[in-house]
Amino acid sequence: MATYSHSKISAFEQCPYKYKLHYIDKEKPEIPETIELFMGKRVHETLEKLYTDKKFKKLVSKATLLKFYNDIWEKEYSDDILVVKEELTAENYRKMGKKFIEDYYDNYKPFDQLTILGIETEDRMTLSDGSQWHVRIDKFACDDKGNYYVMDYKTNAGMKDQDEADEDRQLAMYSIWVKDKFKDVKSVKLVWHMLAFNKEVVSERTDEQLEKLQEDVISVIKKIEYAKEFPTNVTKLCDYCGFKNKCPSFKHQLELEIKAEESVKKFKEDDGLKLVDEFSEVKNKLKEFEDKQDALKADLIEFARQKGVNVVYGSNQKASIKEFDKLVFPENEEDYHKLIELLKSRGHWEECSMICYPRIQGKAVRKEFHPDIMEKLRLEKDKRISLSRRRDGEE
Ligand code: SF4
Repeated sequence: MATYSHSKISAFEQCPYKYKLHYIDKEKPEIPETIELFMGKRVHETLEKLYTDKKFKKLVSKATLLKFYNDIWEKEYSDDILVVKEELTAENYRKMGKKFIEDYYDNYKPFDQLTILGIETEDRMTLSDGSQWHVRIDKFACDDKGNYYVMDYKTNAGMKDQDEADEDRQLAMYSIWVKDKFKDVKSVKLVWHMLAFNKEVVSERTDEQLEKLQEDVISVIKKIEYAKEFPTNVTKLCDYCGFKNKCPSFKHQLELEIKAEESVKKFKEDDGLKLVDEFSEVKNKLKEFEDKQDALKADLIEFARQKGVNVVYGSNQKASIKEFDKLVFPENEEDYHKLIELLKSRGHWEECSMICYPRIQGKAVRKEFHPDIMEKLRLEKDKRISLSRRRDGEE
């Protein structure tokens, strides 16, 4: 049975194509490490050291801990780490991480409020469908009353609120692991240490909530395992995706960016660019012509009315204006349904109703018909093109 994790199934939920590249094709994302990620790792490592030493009854001093932090920062830092915010430098982030550690140290010293059961704990648990779930807990602890604590260090710049904690899937799944593993459990507290604010956000789940959570997780796992297609899902999160250069939704854009950097001529001569420009021009013209056709039709009808004629002559063609009875359905929903019922009861329904192609197509694609109906239907691949505006800043 495959092993899943919160980040693995989140990748599928965010974009099936990204999931495929990462977890099936085992492609490596091409994304430089950001300074936020770098700082977060160093802070985690520093707090790991604090508790590892504590396990051996050694209380590391704040100065030693900060020196450890600075040393690993120096050792690991490289110039290709990405600092996105122009107004900030790597040094700002180093200081920020240092402050997180200082505040944490002052707040929790001498670090014996709870019994630490594990730091960076890793394990697997078996879900009710047999799938494996990866467990990784920053800090795992308990007290002597049977309360267990699953704790996560967050270096986010924004404070997370109670609602977010109560809806979080990652730590909640670990509750199931704790309840399975430790028989004396009275409660499992899920704690986010919001280091930038020196605050904790604590959440807890009932057994019913955990049962529902596990069902939801298993239903995503089923979707993953039955998936035959892995379409792209373009959202704002694509800006942070390390697979953009391999993504069919962005590959051409990246090629254009390279051409634009080389020369405007190369950019403008790109075949794809020319095709899309021409296609959109034709679409716009068609729309203009349709509008013009409607306006001309209205003018012709008016002309014929004023002249008292029903045929208007052009150089090569003539336009005949004929009046006819146009059916108007009841606008009121109740009357509309009454009409449908009457058509049915008077035996006209079969001859007057039409098959709704989009509805049948939707149900067939979602395989919602009985297999004997599905047998008579055939799905084949087709393509459609939709035009949309490029966002500002896209080359
Ligand atoms: S860039 Fe967006 S659409 Fe493409 S793989 Fe990444 S997340 Fe999916």
